[in-house]
Amino acid sequence: MTDATRETTYQCPTCRRLELFVQPQCDEGHGEACPDWVCVICGTALFMDTSFAEQVEVEKIRSKPSRVA
Ligand SMILES: [Zn+2]
Ligand SMILES: [Zn+2]
Repeated sequence: MTDATRETTYQCPTCRRLELFVQPQCDEGHGEACPDWVCVICGTALFMDTSFAEQVEVEKIRSKPSRVA
């Protein structure tokens, strides 16, 4: 599912309600960690670093075993 469109629901500040957000084509090399999200209703672009937060958690979990060993 490399080419699947990522989507999430978020409180849109323009629509003032929960709307569906999708990730636009990223031209900045963020890849799957791209923090850019666009409201499918009004086109408002939001910057959300939820992907980065998940990556930090993964790093913590993976670094534990290597430190013990
Ligand atoms: Zn909106
Ligand atoms: Zn991006």
